[in-house]
Amino acid sequence: MNLRRVSAILAALSVAFAERTLAQAAAPTFPTDDAVLRRIWSVGMDSSRVEQLAGRLLDSIGPRLNGTAIQRNAQNWLVSMYKSWGIEAKNERYGTWRGWRRGTSHVDLLSPRVRTLEATMVGFSPGTHGKPLVASTIILPLFGDSTQFVRWLPQARGKLVLVSAPPLSCRPTADWNEFASPESRQRYQARAADIADEWANPNVRGTGYSMALGGGALGLRLEKAGVAGILTSRPKDAYGTREIFETYNTRAPAVSLSCEDYGLVFRLTERGDDPRLRLELDSKLLGEQPVSNTIATIPGTEKPNEYVLLSAHFDSWDGSSGATDNGTGSILMMEVMRILKQVYPRPKRTIRVGHWTGEEVGLVGSRAYREDHPEVVAGTQALFNQDNGTGRIERFGGLGFPNATERARTWFDKLPDVLRAGVTFGGVGAPGLGGSDDFSFYCAGTPAFALGGVRWNYGNYTWHTDRDTYDKVVFDDLRSNATLVAMLVYLASEDPERTSRTRIDMASRADSILAANAAAAAATNATTPPTGSTARNRPAPPPRVWPSCGEAPRKTRPRL
Ligand SMILES: [Zn+2]
Repeated sequence: MNLRRVSAILAALSVAFAERTLAQAAAPTFPTDDAVLRRIWSVGMDSSRVEQLAGRLLDSIGPRLNGTAIQRNAQNWLVSMYKSWGIEAKNERYGTWRGWRRGTSHVDLLSPRVRTLEATMVGFSPGTHGKPLVASTIILPLFGDSTQFVRWLPQARGKLVLVSAPPLSCRPTADWNEFASPESRQRYQARAADIADEWANPNVRGTGYSMALGGGALGLRLEKAGVAGILTSRPKDAYGTREIFETYNTRAPAVSLSCEDYGLVFRLTERGDDPRLRLELDSKLLGEQPVSNTIATIPGTEKPNEYVLLSAHFDSWDGSSGATDNGTGSILMMEVMRILKQVYPRPKRTIRVGHWTGEEVGLVGSRAYREDHPEVVAGTQALFNQDNGTGRIERFGGLGFPNATERARTWFDKLPDVLRAGVTFGGVGAPGLGGSDDFSFYCAGTPAFALGGVRWNYGNYTWHTDRDTYDKVVFDDLRSNATLVAMLVYLASEDPERTSRTRIDMASRADSILAANAAAAAATNATTPPTGSTARNRPAPPPRVWPSCGEAPRKTRPRL
């Protein structure tokens, strides 16, 4: 045997050995002899359906902008999937929201040179009614006050108004930190801060108007003045990524451009090159349309009026597919229900999932459900919400319910070692101030638990962006999350004890945070000179009372 063959055989053996150790490392050790937990593991990890579900929802159906027909299609698909698994499911109407159909967007630069721009309508934008709109551009000047702005408005008639800040660079901060000379980086940061100041909400360019998420009150005022349309850009701190939200304009279209193309059009306008753009936008505003939540239930046998509630918003923005916000949370909850129906079909408590709509426009669906179902709010043993991307869960803990958190600790301790190993138990915690649908319930005293995922650059790449697509889903993480959450739901359902609704005292929590901050500040001041902190970078004081719930709007409530 020659040397090459020997080394080839050795290499093959070491690969086989490595694979075996990997497989052995992944085999779980369970702290109890509970057979249901073992079966959950095998259904969740060995015959997962998350990839098929994601392909269907994210690629074939698409984004679920609230009030649209696509959202309704997606909800009908949800119901049909649950029925195919033998789980009862229905769409439960709670109100109306404005409807809209997104058609194609095509935006070209015609002069001083020809280029097809990376651009699309923001959500709910009016279109160009079947014919191209050709117009030149104008930059929103910096005004001393809103009277000056109103005097300027006639100049903007028939033009496309650039209403977002010009990008100084479309490179992410990480590039500037790594490659810029210290002087250059400092200059860049100072100029970027000045620009951000001038264009900041709520008083954009001194107009007295705000942009909200896509056009806002400023967009409406410009539309009233007869502009042809508005050009916007909300780049994230990453290459090629931008947020795409919504407008309340009904005549003048609002278009989102990539960082690079917005910068190009802005500079051409600034330089007096008089750029001309052609917009071909197909869309239709449809007025108020019915909206509903999708609810699926596995009824409890022993305590049917007590609930373990799964929660994940189903709606999304529509700049891409809404894959990680919140396709992954939705698929996670579907998969949890599928696993439990197979492994634990007669639960002690009722297991229910709420696929809420209207989250992105103000937690509307979940708030409405809370108002419409006081019996569920009162009967809930535990609520698990997921809405922070695709990553495997690394933090599990309470949201300000000491007794419920004690119960949750007993569930956590029964998880197999490989799932527990990657997760930090967060303790009692505190309620948040909104942000996702769990708020709609814990504000009313329903014990809820945080499931914090590994971030996978969620904030810069996928959250509300044009890049939130199927390929960003990390299926290994999603599969393990479904297995983990199915186990927690099973354990919460089986718990011989009912969780109590005792809450932490918010005032004494606030006092101890303030005391700790003061001590830290005193220690810092003793060693470093004061840096002249401004009101802007001073954190908000900690809340002294439990957050209040607010009311669900039952029809479109504009956010301007
Ligand atoms: Zn979300």
